[in-house]
Amino acid sequence: GTADLECDVVVIGGGPGGYSAAFRAADLGLKVMLVERYATLGGVCLNVGCIPSKALLHVASVMDEVSHMAALGVDFGAPTVDINKLRTHKEKVIGKLTGGLAAMAKMRKVTIVRGVGSFVGANHLQVAETTGKEGQEQTGKTQTIAFKNAIIAAGSQAVSLPFMPKDPRVVDSTGALALKEVPKRMLILGGGIIGLEMGTVYSTLGARLDVVEMLDGLMQGADRDLVKIWQKMNAPRFDNIMLKTKTVSARALPEGIEVTFASAEEGGTAPAPQVYDLVLQAVGRTPNGKKIAAEKAGVAVTDRGFINVDIQMRTNVPHIFAIGDIVGQPMLAHKAVHEAHVAAEVIAGELQGNKELAAAAFNARVIPSVAYTDPEVAWVGLTEDQAKAQGIKVKKGLFPWNASGRAIANGRDEGVTKLLFDDSPEAHGHGKILGGGMVGTHAGDMIGEIALAIEMGADAVDIGKTIHPHPTLGESIGMAAEIAHGSCTDVP
Ligand code: FAD
Repeated sequence: GTADLECDVVVIGGGPGGYSAAFRAADLGLKVMLVERYATLGGVCLNVGCIPSKALLHVASVMDEVSHMAALGVDFGAPTVDINKLRTHKEKVIGKLTGGLAAMAKMRKVTIVRGVGSFVGANHLQVAETTGKEGQEQTGKTQTIAFKNAIIAAGSQAVSLPFMPKDPRVVDSTGALALKEVPKRMLILGGGIIGLEMGTVYSTLGARLDVVEMLDGLMQGADRDLVKIWQKMNAPRFDNIMLKTKTVSARALPEGIEVTFASAEEGGTAPAPQVYDLVLQAVGRTPNGKKIAAEKAGVAVTDRGFINVDIQMRTNVPHIFAIGDIVGQPMLAHKAVHEAHVAAEVIAGELQGNKELAAAAFNARVIPSVAYTDPEVAWVGLTEDQAKAQGIKVKKGLFPWNASGRAIANGRDEGVTKLLFDDSPEAHGHGKILGGGMVGTHAGDMIGEIALAIEMGADAVDIGKTIHPHPTLGESIGMAAEIAHGSCTDVP
């Protein structure tokens, strides 16, 4: 058929996956088109995810820190918050980053095609042009792009429970980040990272929190030793932490949103219905796989909307690749970026006959996770529970931050650093590190070291003998390794 545009690679979606793939492909000399329905690049992460949430969490963390100072002899008094100014700050942060991406795309001669993309064949994508700030309005104009290769990076969107009333007092993370006003009573539906991060922001600004979670603990995936400390420190933010509890119905009343709960266990009891000024739905995200007419290109999509790929990020159609949230968990920006580079390299390698590039593969051993709450919780690799479930014998090194000079000096010694090493007989006492986690201030900034140790196959001696600067929180990683190895005696 005829096409209006043609390229080597078309990328569908301009999030961390999409723009990283487009930039790498362009750097490798390919002619690239990037299709994005919204006015700015950056996807969920830059516009309504990672970045705006961290802009607000930074402010919350400074406010929390300052409130601790009175006990140390410095009283800043009660803060006053200008929520409009705070929102403007957050928008400026987003603008700076998305503007930077647009400039980088231009520099690399990546053509941005604004609109909603959907496949019309195995080598053709149709783009329905969109306009306006949100990019929801379609103009009726369409273009067809003929491509040699495609990379699907259409991302995911928040799940909303079917029985939730359509009401401005019921929001998802995007609505919560819009930060219109601070409610008195707020319910967080879902005790995962996104819900707890937004809850941290709102509670620091003055909201009282309830959280409801179907499973038996908050922050699933993280080591329970770490979560226990987080929960103890954060208890004052909450009126109710409802675990093993489902939300079964909700209705909009003049005085608020009334939510009804049921036990997730057979025969269990549930709390009475409650009325909230704001309900945040943070019960997970669903991939956008069913919205791009993938079937017209022959690309298989699962019932839940995911697209399965191999370690080269290739779908069942050999010249079409997929990356980021749309290919599965964990739905994290850093995973999307690494997958993006693999897809772009494989395509460039194949088009240019470069065997080394064509052999690129996503073979990361581990992907770290961070809850940017206060304190932060960060983890990577195996947790103790997972090791137990898999029958793997581990040796653990647990370093309590109340033995860290820096943590004590900071007045924040509640943290813990925990490392797990292989203790199977085959390891002969020199087992490699299998996982690790930290709870405490700046934990997220330090977890990369543990990820590096796992990728490099370090053992406890490697980490313990690595000289960490004193006095830092990062020293706790070296100390935890020494404890696991049994060469540290000066910690209780
Ligand atoms: P997305 O970022 O979802 O981008 C997909 C893009 O594709 C969007 O711009 C969309 O408009 C576009 N698109 C979709 N369909 C079409 C179509 N048919 N045509 C044209 N364009 C289309 N991750 C972290 O690693 N760290 C964090 O701190 C973090 N915080 C988060 C906080 C919140 C509140 C949320 C919601 C998420 C957070 N995440 C975080 C997750 C992170 O945002 C995602 O993992 C990441 O954005 C996924 O990137 P992606 O490229 O796969 O997709």
